[in-house]
Amino acid sequence: MKILVFLEQRQNSIRPAALEALAAAHKIESDLSNIEAVVVGESVVGAAEQTKGFGASKVYAVEHAELAAYNPLKYCDAIESAVKESSPDLVLFSASPMGRDLSPRLAARFGSGILSDVTSIQASGDKVTAKKPMYAGKIIANVELSLSEKPGIISVRPNTFAANDQLGGESSVSSVTAELKDTPLVTKSIKAGSSDKADLTEAQIVISGGRSLGSKENFAKLDSLANVLGATVGASRAAVLDGFADHSMQVGQTGKTVNPKLYISFGISGQIQHLAGMRTSKCIVAVNTNPDAPIFSVADYGIVGDMFEALPIMEQKFKELLV
Ligand code: FAD
Repeated sequence: MKILVFLEQRQNSIRPAALEALAAAHKIESDLSNIEAVVVGESVVGAAEQTKGFGASKVYAVEHAELAAYNPLKYCDAIESAVKESSPDLVLFSASPMGRDLSPRLAARFGSGILSDVTSIQASGDKVTAKKPMYAGKIIANVELSLSEKPGIISVRPNTFAANDQLGGESSVSSVTAELKDTPLVTKSIKAGSSDKADLTEAQIVISGGRSLGSKENFAKLDSLANVLGATVGASRAAVLDGFADHSMQVGQTGKTVNPKLYISFGISGQIQHLAGMRTSKCIVAVNTNPDAPIFSVADYGIVGDMFEALPIMEQKFKELLV
């Protein structure tokens, strides 16, 4: 089965989640020569070369000055140009915000089916089957994609498949001319966030705080522990609405879906809308004064107690363990 993987880049650096999508491709196709990738931007040959060993035999570099800033329609045109070169059976994306934006657009262009945000994947004959969390993570659905219309489109949840630089592949770069159509949609500017931490959706460790932190100043206390652990800070919607944290930090149904190795929540009740964004985390630690708080139903470890007492103790202990 021929697979084309979209490699998201930011400032010419390939996103870790894109390399995970390459690893996911190897779950369904063992022949490396059938796995290719595409990277899109103004000048991305250098980015394409960063993927050597991560499992792509060839990388299509679609370069154009109009692709300097992310524009979903032009990016879709660019990927379409690479699809015409590669003729894949499947196109894989990471289910990052960009992948979630692009993948259904591409499926609509080809009139093909899409499996989004999958957490496991396998192929048999002309079908791909996958598992995906649904209904705020309450069920894991078995979903199937028939490849009667090609290419089928799949997006894979970040932090589910481990990127692997031992998969081989020369990532030989092939330039593709972008056939960009005129569009009224113009990206005027993109403002980078101020944080130097990993993106919430890609972070290996997330520390989140809730409304009960009570103030912006108290919320900032999470930063100190986050620095010790190299974690990214998230928030409940209540904490965002109360102005303690930026909306970009919100975890949950109307925020971001995170899937880290470790998720520590401080003073978050764990309503279903919050769980929707974090319940697939590998290890969940919850601190809450209420032993009946719903967050404990998904927690691997729980501390029933005051987070203002627990926070400095945990920080101290982690410091001792990590030196
Ligand atoms: P609260 O519910 O007020 O809980 C505070 C918790 O802190 C309590 O469990 C309490 O026992 C505990 N606590 C108090 N003091 C301490 C202390 N000193 N130490 C330790 N624990 C303490 N929410 C999200 O998070 N993300 C979403 O994306 C989201 N989307 C939504 C979409 C819709 C359509 C709707 C209707 C709601 C959505 N919500 C979302 C809101 C969600 O239902 C909850 O209201 C919200 O998650 C509650 O946030 P919280 O746990 O911080 O606050």
